[in-house]
Parts: sequence; C-alpha cells; structure tokens
Amino acid sequence: MKSNPTLTLSKEEMKSYGYKIIDTIVDHFETQNSKSPVYQSTRAEMDALFLEEAPEQGEKIEDVLDFVVATVLKKTDILSHPKLYSFVPGPSNYISVMADTLATGFNIFSGGWANAPAAAELEIVTINWLLKLFKLPTKKGGGIFTSGGSMANLTALVTARWQKCGDDFSKAVIYLSDQTHSSNMKAIRTIGFKKEQVRIIPTDLEFKMSINKLKNAIAKDRLEDLDPFCVIGTAGATNTGTVDPLKEIAKICKEEKIWFHVDAAYGGAAILSKKGKSILTGIEKADSITVDPHKWFFQPYEMGCLLVRNHKWLSNTFTEKPEYLRDIEGNTSEINFYDHGIQLTRRFRALKFYMSIKSFGLQSFREAIDYSINLAKKTEEHLRKSTCWEIVSPATLGIINFRYHPLSENFSEKKLDVINQRISQEIISSEEAMLVTTILQNQIVLRMCLINPRTKFEDVLQTIQKCEEIGAKIQKKLNDITIYSS
Ligand SMILES: *Cc1c(COP(=O)(O)O)cnc(C)c1O
Repeated sequence: MKSNPTLTLSKEEMKSYGYKIIDTIVDHFETQNSKSPVYQSTRAEMDALFLEEAPEQGEKIEDVLDFVVATVLKKTDILSHPKLYSFVPGPSNYISVMADTLATGFNIFSGGWANAPAAAELEIVTINWLLKLFKLPTKKGGGIFTSGGSMANLTALVTARWQKCGDDFSKAVIYLSDQTHSSNMKAIRTIGFKKEQVRIIPTDLEFKMSINKLKNAIAKDRLEDLDPFCVIGTAGATNTGTVDPLKEIAKICKEEKIWFHVDAAYGGAAILSKKGKSILTGIEKADSITVDPHKWFFQPYEMGCLLVRNHKWLSNTFTEKPEYLRDIEGNTSEINFYDHGIQLTRRFRALKFYMSIKSFGLQSFREAIDYSINLAKKTEEHLRKSTCWEIVSPATLGIINFRYHPLSENFSEKKLDVINQRISQEIISSEEAMLVTTILQNQIVLRMCLINPRTKFEDVLQTIQKCEEIGAKIQKKLNDITIYSS
C-alpha cells in the first residue's frame, strides 16, 4: 500500500475486507469442532514465521489479511472446542462476537455518561440483571465490567481495603484458602500487602475452606492487635468447582465486621441453574462478588465483572477528577464508570452481554448451564463404573477430577503420578483433545472442565476411551520394567 496518512480505505475496500473477515469467522464457527483443539509451538518456530522489523511501507491489505488468516489464527489452541477440557474453556457465542465487533467499529468510549449515555445505561441495566440474579440489592447495589476476573478481584480488594481501612492498612489482615485463585494473591501483592498480612486457610478433604481454622486465625490476629478486614471465599474453585461454606463465612464476617468478597469468577454463572443456585447458597450475603462472563456466561474475551452490595463503595474508592473532566460531571444517577473502577478509557463491554441475553434469552443460558452440570455428573457415573478409574474430586459445577488407578494393580503413588502425567502428555500430543493434569492432595490427577454446551457426552466418552488405551499401554510397560528389574 502507498503511504496513506489519513489511514482510510475506500468504501469498496472496506466492504470487501470486512466481508472476508466475516466469512472467515463464520467458517471458523462452522468448522472449529472438527479441527484439533491443541496447538503447541516453540519460540524459535514462531520467530521463524513472524519475527521482522516494522515495515516502512505497507503491503497489499489482502496479503496481510490472508497471511494472518492462514498462519496467525491457526497457531493457537481453540478454547471453544468441544474437546478442550482444560483450564476454563471459553465457549463464546456468535452474537457476542458480532456485538464486540460493533462496539469496536463505533469505537465507543464507555468511560463517562456524557460521552456515551446509552453505553453507560446498558452497563447499569446488565449489572442490574446480574445483581438480581445474585439477590444483591438492585437499588443500592452496583458493579462494573472489567477485562476479566483478575481485574475484578483487584478492584474488589482495593475497594474492601479503602472502605475498611482507609489509607492506613499497616495492621490489616486478609484471609483466603489454599484453593483461592492465584489472581487474588497477585492482587494482594499489587496493592502492597506484605506476606505477613495474608493468611492462607487450609481446606478440608472436599477442598472447602475450613471454618474452624478460619475462626482460629481471626481470633489469633485479634489477640495480636491486628485488623482482620477481608475474607475471600471461593464459589467454584478453578481446580475442583468446590464452593466454600459461604453461609458460615458470611456469618463470621458479619459478627467480626469483616468484608466478605466472593470470587465466583468460575462458578458464578451457575446461579442461573436450579442445582447451581442451591450450591451457591449464601453468595447473596457477600459484600462483593467477582463473576467472569467470558467463562460460563459464554462471552468472548475480555469480560469480567465485579458486583457490590453498595455502589457508593466503588465511587468512594475510585473517584479522582482530572481538570479536563470537570465539565462533564452529570448528576449522580448518571454514572461515570471511570469513577467506579481503575480504567478511564474503557471499551463498551456491556453490549455483548446485553445483545446475547436479549437474543438468546436467559432460558437458553439456564439450559446450557444445566447441561454442563449434568454432563459432568454423567461423566462421573461412567468413570465410577470402570475398573481403571478413581474419582478424586466428584463432579461439581461442571468440573471433575479423576485418575487412572486400575483395581488389579498395587501401584505406588509415584507410579500412578507417572501414568496420569503420561496420559495427559500423550492425549495432548495426539492433538485429539486438550486434557491437562492438576495436583490435588499431592496426587497428579486429570481434570475436566465441561462448560462448553457444544461438548457431547460422546466426545467425553471418546476421550476417556483414548485415555484408557494410553493408560493400559503404560501400565503394561511399567509391569514389564518391574518384572525385568526384579
Ligand atoms: C479464571 C479465574 C480468575 C481469573 O479470571 P481472569 O478472567 O482469567 O482474569 C479468578 N478467579 C477464579 C476462581 C477463576 O476461575
């Protein structure tokens, strides 16, 4: 392309370029289930493909696009693939993808009311939908969309600390469990707490925060004249789906006047299903809740959300006016979301949530989530009937952990670890499915997170069958080695 100092394309160029992109996305939606969910590569291989100096002269726009479609977009795991069982999948949905495209196309500034009142209003409306689902007060309550769960947790902890401690937090202590998501620890470090101000409460055999140990820790800290200010409960641990005893923690927090933050980034969406709702009982007592629409609410990246019991807590914490924003104050009912969180310039995240729920209806989301919870249960039942699998953590909110542990053998823990690690490695290198291990109670186990509503029971059975074949093969090898060495 010749030098183009206004960075514009003609109408025809824009159309053909844009249609090509839409065709590519639609083709991806149509074919992704039959692609491999796995792509692994090294830095050297990627450098060989992409490393170059920034070009002084542009190339033909079609050539750049073709190169990206043919190369860049193929060198990635497919997080919305039905056989990607690891991490937290990102099932996404087409309506929201298009909504994001619109929000970017119009480059809407979703920071202040005056700049984009409809964007602010849609954020208020959709946050209200969420407040209502979680039974937080809709009049007083509030919230904000963030880039993800990590930023929502960070925003929550800054708010909790400001409300509870002001700017002297030298004696403040925060409580979490050994299953709390790492983003909370990152946030704690980011906002300048020392290690001595953090208590990691052990979990019980079901991976729930031990209430007794929490009470002990708080009492001890009070005796030391410290200031317990926040407990982080988890509603859907990323490892196991486990929900902490929220009601009991809420009771302690109320008595002790401690902020109760619930990290429901993984499990929060389960509030839409009957079963999930009963598992999440007590979440309505939280002061703040993190949910992550780019997980089980099927939104494309990036979208997290923080909900709070009182919206003033956010504005108290984050309002900070530069001079050039003086003239666009507005009145308090017209929310400037830059006053409710860390970002000033913000993309219009509410649009995809709004359009997908308006288009599909909550009912579709409820059924999708029920489906996942049941799929994990069915998987558990299937595994329990087998002589070679042991359930390590039963199906909870769509997550199940299990390991290869044949009845007929008396393998040491170490050998079982080797077998299960190898099963995962071989499944991944077969590119058939993405199934990684996690560690629970010092055991290496396989973890399946089944929140993709397009994952069929048949997909899961195929993957388990393949794992069994790999397991049997390794088992045989290990036995042969044992025979030789004895
Ligand atoms: C995924 C997750 C997070 C982090 O969210 P991001 O969107 O990845 O930043 C925090 N907490 C829990 C429980 C999670 O599962």
